[in-house]
Amino acid sequence: MKQSLLKYALLPLLLLSGCQQGMKADIVVTMFPQEDISKAIVGDKLSVHSILPLGVDVHDFEASSRDIVSLNDARLVIHTSPIIDTWFVEDQIQDENTTVIDLSTYYTPDETLPSNEQDHEDDFVHYWVDPLVIVDLTLVILEEIVALDPINETFYTANAQDYVEDLIDTHGTFMDYLTAKSFLDSTIYFAGHNAMGLFGLRHQLDIHPLFSDFKPDEDLSSGQLIEFVTAIKETGTHFLFVEAMVNPKAALTIKDELSKEDYALTLLELHSFHNRSTEDAANNVTYLDIYKRNIANIKVALEG
Ligand SMILES: [Zn+2]
Repeated sequence: MKQSLLKYALLPLLLLSGCQQGMKADIVVTMFPQEDISKAIVGDKLSVHSILPLGVDVHDFEASSRDIVSLNDARLVIHTSPIIDTWFVEDQIQDENTTVIDLSTYYTPDETLPSNEQDHEDDFVHYWVDPLVIVDLTLVILEEIVALDPINETFYTANAQDYVEDLIDTHGTFMDYLTAKSFLDSTIYFAGHNAMGLFGLRHQLDIHPLFSDFKPDEDLSSGQLIEFVTAIKETGTHFLFVEAMVNPKAALTIKDELSKEDYALTLLELHSFHNRSTEDAANNVTYLDIYKRNIANIKVALEG
């Protein structure tokens, strides 16, 4: 690994801010899903660092000059996509020993899933919400990690196998449950951004987002409020899902509106795996844990 300060001085961002120390790690990632996969594979053999601070909305994140130093110090950089990492320019990484992969280029839509053209683009943006896509991407990341450190290939491969088996088992058990209880094609109301389309397709659930944008924090228009309140009453559901780590102001407005008609609404979290809260990170909550939490909440709503 090169340590040349001269090299960093070539980076315009660093010229502006002076030379700074980044967090050094073998693998540096830009988001939680690839952090979770990488940590599960490497165990204590290699270090993994995510430049996305805990609790921060990835759609608003801009990397700092320190982060660019971390990226250059890494042996492997796994970024999410140009749409999510809007700040990311490959020229920022000038170290020839750093391998950079754009994880989105390894995602291929599953032709067996029902979809339509309009949804497809948003599904692609949030490809990581499908646990079976994570299974495929685990194998991609495994290959890169083995290339970094071939001596520990057996160890990494066994860890990756355990990781994907847990996801496949959890998915299979949930699908068996949905099928046995005749819950397939149920509608889930989500007072969040358009992130969970692929999660819905994978589990044959109709996840109806309040906002059509692919980023959170839109304001609720009166038209959207009426439309959503009407739809909730028509289906008769008493559960509304909200985003993790986002102020549920739109959901609370809907809940207030319905309470005027003595219609009770319980809010439940549906996590879209973008990032973890500080509390979840302190408790070592994994992608699989969040997936299981989503399943538990969906069961509450479906069983009413
Ligand atoms: Zn998003």
